[in-house]
Amino acid sequence: MTEARRAQRARYNMSAKGRAATARYKASPKGRAQRARYDARYNVSAAGRAAYARYNVSAKGKARDLARQDRGRVWRQAANAAVRAAVRCGELVRSGACSACGAAGRTEFHHPSYLRKDWLAAEELCRRCHRRWHRANAAIMPEGLG
Ligand SMILES: [Zn+2]
Repeated sequence: MTEARRAQRARYNMSAKGRAATARYKASPKGRAQRARYDARYNVSAAGRAAYARYNVSAKGKARDLARQDRGRVWRQAANAAVRAAVRCGELVRSGACSACGAAGRTEFHHPSYLRKDWLAAEELCRRCHRRWHRANAAIMPEGLG
């Protein structure tokens, strides 16, 4: 599966339509049978619980935990805190207009890069342009957790 296809599927699974389809499957005879097989294998037997416990401490299980963590969150929070501080002390000035579409009103500071040196190189965008940019682009993220 390509990355784009995987992302598309994830969006579908989170959508109302996707969640409804999952709920229908789970309530269907086929879905209930699948759940019963899964429970018999992993959840209701001591052997199954032991298998889970082994997996959770294995290298593969730990890698899964790491992959599930939102590694970008720490950097986004740091960059946003730096912007808030700069706005408070007047180093960054909010104009109230989107630098992409020119719309006036509520604006957000946008980070094309979350590298420490770029924390204050934030562009002022309206929510719509901001969302659009992040949907279409991947911001530059520092390696690791820092
Ligand atoms: Zn805009």
